[in-house]
Amino acid sequence: MQQHSEKEIRKSFINCSKGAAQRLNVPKGLAETDWDSEIFLGWIDPKAPQNAYVVAETENGLGGLVLQKNDQKTRGGAQMCQLCMTLHPGSGVSMFSIQRSKSTKEHYNSIGTYICSDLKCSDYTWGKKKPEGVRQMEETLTPEERAERTRRNVEGLIERVSEKMK
Ligand SMILES: [Zn+2]
Repeated sequence: MQQHSEKEIRKSFINCSKGAAQRLNVPKGLAETDWDSEIFLGWIDPKAPQNAYVVAETENGLGGLVLQKNDQKTRGGAQMCQLCMTLHPGSGVSMFSIQRSKSTKEHYNSIGTYICSDLKCSDYTWGKKKPEGVRQMEETLTPEERAERTRRNVEGLIERVSEKMK
């Protein structure tokens, strides 16, 4: 990613009100972020751990999503993150739901997807972090190809959310 300011990040959110985007907690240490290695920015709200955020560069500029983390335990066995395709033991992946409407009253209008619980997909993609106790699938992709796949998956998710909001 390129470097983005807090202001740009707040402006990027597409599925919450402007007010909510102003109030949400941006990641700590934003100034020290290693932007080069971030495929997208993902973080959990330190004050409200059920709130999660994803911000990524897309063809239409910076796009941000508000997600709700569902902490219900997933059924046993390994689960795969739908963004970075990393396999995790049960608790390493969470179901996140994403509202497609800016109105909080339209709860039915949401989509759900499995993503790394800590949203550190960039680190998993580059192999900086590895889930313990699970064997990853054998892959022949280079790290750059994996990063491109993760980037495309995030962009696709943002598109899916924004399409329904037009
Ligand atoms: Zn992931």
